[in-house]
Amino acid sequence: NSVIGILGGGQLARMIAIAAAQLGYKTHIFCPENDPSASHVSTFYTKANYNNYSALDTFAKQVNVVTYEFENIMVEPVEYLTKKLAVFPDPKILKTCQDRVMEKSFIQSLDIPTAKFEPIDSIESLREAVQKIGYPSILKSNTMGYDGKGQIKLSDDIDLEKAWKKVTSEVNVSQAILEQYIEFESEASIIVARGLDNTEVCFPLVTNKHRNHILRQTIAPAQLPEYVHKDAKEIATKIAKSIGLVGVLAVELFVVRDTATDTYKLLVNELAPRPHNSGHWTIEGCVTSQFEQLVRCVCGLPLGSVDFMRSISEKEYLKQNLQPIVMTNLLGNEVDQWEKQLSTKGSHLHIYAKGDARDGRKMGHFTLIPSEDK
Ligand code: ATP
Ligand code: MG
Ligand code: MG
Repeated sequence: NSVIGILGGGQLARMIAIAAAQLGYKTHIFCPENDPSASHVSTFYTKANYNNYSALDTFAKQVNVVTYEFENIMVEPVEYLTKKLAVFPDPKILKTCQDRVMEKSFIQSLDIPTAKFEPIDSIESLREAVQKIGYPSILKSNTMGYDGKGQIKLSDDIDLEKAWKKVTSEVNVSQAILEQYIEFESEASIIVARGLDNTEVCFPLVTNKHRNHILRQTIAPAQLPEYVHKDAKEIATKIAKSIGLVGVLAVELFVVRDTATDTYKLLVNELAPRPHNSGHWTIEGCVTSQFEQLVRCVCGLPLGSVDFMRSISEKEYLKQNLQPIVMTNLLGNEVDQWEKQLSTKGSHLHIYAKGDARDGRKMGHFTLIPSEDK
């Protein structure tokens, strides 16, 4: 009758809690928000700030293992918890994934390509970095960014001073990174899970479509040649092994096409040491969802199959030219369109029950599973 503690109370925590309940575990949500989405489906809920150490002490006594649903959480409280009980993934991983310079340096140290980058800590260092990286490039806050917040594309007509001010003020940090702008053909991601017994599995590679820097749609499997799927798996497995992952981790990728040779190359954009929006389709699309896989990882259970529900591998899926599965996010007021999905054949609707449908806020999603016939 173990209890899984989850730091964070959003839709990811909600879906982890649902998966945990299915396997007979209780969950305990810990977050500062009022009436968080995950609290509706969790056994226990503590409303407290992440750096409220006395609340953390109590929490640690009430749960058997801890995980978290977002990578921008303060590291210190997570490290504090590791002195009391097991926390997965290890906060060292969190540290690397929170810091874009550390993250890209780590990935390059594994001989995995990323965009060229330079660390930035002042307007002077930005001017120097622009000399090396050139235009177009992207200036991003080094930490705390998400959904494209705290980043700006630079081209030769840009006022560097203004760009620097915008990026540092938007997320209130003083360190940034300048990245070469990648002319990708598409964006993809792959989720890797690694258990306590050091076995790992990768979910199928998927294509992601963004709107205003927010994920709009995921297409599974990615309609790319088989060797690209294989490359992605190698990249994700290498990262999971070298970082000592226990849990699930998403690898965001740029897919670059070399038109001369008509071949594809993958570059890593960033990592997320948690379930990922691009993995929501696995709830109905795969034998084991990314959320159940995380529960299995942190509870020391064997990992589940990542085959499609049709019990075929993505290799077969591609070979048979089956229609892909499509996951679409319901953002902001779009959530009002959910009724249509209830009467759409093959559509699986998820509503997160968040109060305020602010612009661009992830309010729900639906996954369309195509019918068997082509
Ligand atoms: P997330 O919500 O995924 O955490 P984020 O704010 O951390 O987003 P990134 O994923 O780094 O930011 O960038 C957001 C999007 O901006 C990417 O998905 C991609 O579309 C675009 N982008 C980021 N970096 C580059 C780059 N170097 N070259 C081209 N496009 C980029
Ligand atoms: Mg990010
Ligand atoms: Mg991203």
